[in-house]
Amino acid sequence: MTPPTPERPPDEHAAAASGTAGRGEAAFGVEFSPRQAQTERLVVHIVWMTSGLGCDGDTIALTAATRPTLEDLLGRALPGMPGVVLYNPLLAMESGDQFMRAWHDAAAGKLDPFILVLEGSVPNEEINGEGHWAALGIDPVTKDPITTNEWIDRLAPRAAAVLAMGTCAAYGGIPAMKNNPTGAMGLRDYLGWDWRSRAGLPIVNLPGCPAQPDNITELLLYLVLQLAGMTPEIELDEQGRPRWMFDRTVHEVCNRGGFADHGEFATEFGADHRCLVKLGCKGPVVRCNVPVRGWVGGIGGCPNVGGLCMACTMPGFPDKYMPFMETGPLGRLAARGARFSYGPLLRYLRDKSMQRRYEVEPAWRRRGKELETGYQRRW
Ligand code: SF4
Ligand code: SF4
Ligand code: SF4
Repeated sequence: MTPPTPERPPDEHAAAASGTAGRGEAAFGVEFSPRQAQTERLVVHIVWMTSGLGCDGDTIALTAATRPTLEDLLGRALPGMPGVVLYNPLLAMESGDQFMRAWHDAAAGKLDPFILVLEGSVPNEEINGEGHWAALGIDPVTKDPITTNEWIDRLAPRAAAVLAMGTCAAYGGIPAMKNNPTGAMGLRDYLGWDWRSRAGLPIVNLPGCPAQPDNITELLLYLVLQLAGMTPEIELDEQGRPRWMFDRTVHEVCNRGGFADHGEFATEFGADHRCLVKLGCKGPVVRCNVPVRGWVGGIGGCPNVGGLCMACTMPGFPDKYMPFMETGPLGRLAARGARFSYGPLLRYLRDKSMQRRYEVEPAWRRRGKELETGYQRRW
């Protein structure tokens, strides 16, 4: 992939986002990152559509990010980092035509480079009867609403990178459940799983309902740096997810994993600290980093704090995991196996071993005239 050349000087949009262009280089006269002066002249625009079928929960999650924060992104926290301008209907101060200007500018090729973010699933407008399922803004000529699908068709070919934000945009999510009337689908289902941006990049899926806040800002930061040529292309798995975020299952990183090991299972919600698989936790078959990353500032994380994993990051969510509060066949099998075979035995042997070997202080730690640590005196 060839990222766009970072040559474009800050424009008037950029002024709103950051007044710190080139500050590291200007302040110290030295460069703290390769080509710092050049990469800091770049301005990356993030055009974030919330007009897919969804609930805007990912935008709300964005505001809770701590590593990095949204302010870090917009305030150019790293040396060499391009300026970032975010256009999002929920967070914008502007409204009406003033707000829509950026959308029309992006469609006309006047915002370059930009990252297109879609939040919410893509409806099937070929089956909308006489209306439309989702839209944003009014066409100045026809005075008709401009559908979300029309915006995707206008913006995607001009975007340097495209990000499907949240499970709805990635795979369809809740609006795409069985029996839904809109024919909703994920962005890759709409544009094609092999679709590439003009910079040659595949659509990045960031699932989660909502996506984990720090995953959002980390990924946006990564894409911004990538467009400046400062990072390699993101490695995606076969479901279009960043591999480093989704390579482990919830079960593999859950802080109740030890209890699952020992065949100890919670029987009710609340203060019971044991494994939740018998209450319906789907963690063993779900890829998600929330138990290790927490929700806000490292705190929380579904099963860590007593909530079932209901598989909200997964392509088959929610249909394949319902009813949520019922043990799946695999979970039942794993629980039975652990409960009646190796689990209790493992617990017994570990307890014994702890008592005999590990919960005992070494013998040389005592008062007396002899040094018994094994040290050979040299004086
Ligand atoms: Fe809302 Fe979840 Fe869809 Fe995001 S993925 S828009 S949080 S329903
Ligand atoms: Fe695995 Fe869920 Fe039990 Fe955690 S609570 S150990 S994720 S089954
Ligand atoms: Fe969703 Fe499960 Fe991850 Fe929680 S742990 S965010 S329910 S996939």
